Amino acid sequence: MIAKDHNFINGKWLKVAGSNFTEVTESATGEVMARVAMGGAREVDLAVSAARTAFEGWSATPAKDRSEFARRIQAGLGEKMAEVAELIAREVGMPLQLSRIIQVGLPMNTFGEMARLGEEFAFETREGNAMILREPVGVVAAITPWNYPLHQIAAKIAPALVAGCTVVLKPSEVAPLNAFALAEIIEASGLPAGVFNLVTGTGALVGEALAQHPDVDMISFTGSTRAGKRVAEIASASVKRVTLELGGKSACVILEDADFERAVPDAVSKCFLNSGQTCSALTRLLVPAERLQDAERMAVAAAETYALGDPLERGSRMGPLVSEIQRQRVRGYIDSALSQGATLLIGGSDQPPGLDSGHFVSPTILSDVTPEMTVAQEEIFGPVLCLMAYADEKEALDIANGTIYGLAGGVWSGSKERAINFARKMRTGQVEINGGAFNPNAPFGGYKQSGNGRELGHFGLEEFLETKALLT
Ligand code: NAD
Repeated sequence: MIAKDHNFINGKWLKVAGSNFTEVTESATGEVMARVAMGGAREVDLAVSAARTAFEGWSATPAKDRSEFARRIQAGLGEKMAEVAELIAREVGMPLQLSRIIQVGLPMNTFGEMARLGEEFAFETREGNAMILREPVGVVAAITPWNYPLHQIAAKIAPALVAGCTVVLKPSEVAPLNAFALAEIIEASGLPAGVFNLVTGTGALVGEALAQHPDVDMISFTGSTRAGKRVAEIASASVKRVTLELGGKSACVILEDADFERAVPDAVSKCFLNSGQTCSALTRLLVPAERLQDAERMAVAAAETYALGDPLERGSRMGPLVSEIQRQRVRGYIDSALSQGATLLIGGSDQPPGLDSGHFVSPTILSDVTPEMTVAQEEIFGPVLCLMAYADEKEALDIANGTIYGLAGGVWSGSKERAINFARKMRTGQVEINGGAFNPNAPFGGYKQSGNGRELGHFGLEEFLETKALLT
């Protein structure tokens, strides 16, 4: 059993006061794998104060030196790749091979890319008689979720550090162990004390304490739309900068001239990645009504290739969900869809055969889903794909845009130009054209209630910069 009863504050491991703790469960068995002490107001105050004190020196450190630390952290992650990938596979449930590439590989890329950008970014430019300075925002509180836990941490910490900000990280209490691994790597990198601080705790206590803290200049939040609204509300009292990366209900639209044999299996994979626990998952598959039966057959065939099993076993293509709470939520959504008239093609809410323990849900495809159904509007965050039929392109666009969210999307057409024209009309932050590959340096973020701001690449770096004009 792993025990974590310290937080990383001002360059030291400080024992958490108080007796609150959380239990982290192993997703494949449901057994407790770790006990983590939960910080509170004391740890928040100490961490924010350390970050505030460290800000003066860190913000004055040359950007190329700040970048050098990001490179060291990238290298440190590389050295611990196998260990951290396994930890996240156990916490979150993603199959181990994918966990290496995505859960550790992406954060490594982000630290490396931010280091590169820090070395070449124009922190000073001119506009006529104005000298424009891009300066760090200040003390940043980063609040992160559990689904791609280290990726979401890196998407905040790497640009914040390179920009010259100091940071207090509050990771998800559901999957916090990877954040400890990162804090150890940062400690070993020799980063000056107070530049990076780790405080564990619940959203209601530590998250809200950070959002309202007068000495925090910016909240960078990733999580549910519900919690993001609350954070923005609290932070508004002190007019902090708030960036929000929230939920999604993204649509993949297959136009009638597309190559269905390629498009449908790809769409299924974009829904099922990480057992559907992906904010940008393409969870609604929109097909022309006259091709619905073809799409159903192809989607079922694709779903049948997802071997469900222990994420640490080689043959598993899909792992369990992160927690029992999450599993119950996903099963509830499947049942609600059936009671509202959807058709179950494969999967369902029953216990998957042969998997009696752990938080498993079978890969599930629902058809005859219509826009007013709960599963067509709300984020499920499980391996559940909703097939929806449309009559014409206008209706496809209305359905695609017809939720409160706008995070990701996909369009397939025999004509790339036609797909791009359709994508231009989608109210969403990122769209894959004919299955276009994920780009870890492209701006990522939401329209509408999927949030505001953009992470990754130079858009991600600029989130952590203020702009000052010196009139000369
Ligand atoms: P969550 O909102 O429950 O928790 C996210 C983080 O916010 C956690 O650290 C939690 O402790 C904290 N939190 C919760 N309530 C808070 C409050 N009142 N004040 C301050 N902090 C609070 O979300 P989750 O279940 O961990 O993650 C899943 C959600 O995150 C999904 O909705 C998913 O779509 C979203 N997400 C979005 C992105 C994105 O980039 N847009 C990426 C990943 C996940």
